[in-house]
Amino acid sequence: MKFDIITIFPKILDSYFNESILKRAQKNKKVKIITHDLRKCSKDKHKNTDDSPYGGGPGMIMMIQPLYNCLKKIRRKKNSRVIMLDPAGKQFDQKTALRYSKLDQLIFICGRYEGIDERISNYVDEKISIGPYVLSGGELGAAVITEAVARLIPGVLGSKDSLQYETFSGEKSDIVEYPQYTRPESFKDMNVPKILLSGNHKEIDKWRKNKKK
Ligand code: SAM
Repeated sequence: MKFDIITIFPKILDSYFNESILKRAQKNKKVKIITHDLRKCSKDKHKNTDDSPYGGGPGMIMMIQPLYNCLKKIRRKKNSRVIMLDPAGKQFDQKTALRYSKLDQLIFICGRYEGIDERISNYVDEKISIGPYVLSGGELGAAVITEAVARLIPGVLGSKDSLQYETFSGEKSDIVEYPQYTRPESFKDMNVPKILLSGNHKEIDKWRKNKKK
């Protein structure tokens, strides 16, 4: 699956994408993550991507022309969606991650400043928020969605069992994973539940099912 991220800060996510699971997923060609420098799509000789708002008001607004140019430049796969990061958009959740994981391509538009010229809506399939708070840009949102989606793509995680009982999995997304423990057996008088040391997998499964909320 391909993730295209349109941003004025094309390096801002590099270190995150080049570590751990996403690094391995790219190496194994399960995912391709490309960042597009919006400034390169500006026709302006100063490579500006923003301007002041019509009607007045604080801050700057991202111009539609560079975004339009950039979207046109990105080769679209058949099964793709253009996602605009927007605090007022539909809240991202595990169900959306699962839906996106079946696509071939996600294209993210990362806003900055006071937001984006409203006419961008004509080129966007979905406006998505990663939570009810305001960040300074859409890049973290693009990273959050990329990671949540990538780990659902077959072969990205080491074991597919990791996904089966995970929090928010299941048809109703209502599962919360059971508590987990590892060594040592005892830490500052806090002991691992005896059942987990028993080797009785039937009873362990029963205990885990009861502990799921
Ligand atoms: N003036 C805008 C408003 O009041 O809704 C906020 C703009 S915000 C400072 C700049 C950009 O950050 C947005 O265009 C969006 O791309 C991104 N952003 C901020 N918070 C976000 C959130 N919770 N989810 C997704 N994107 C967000």
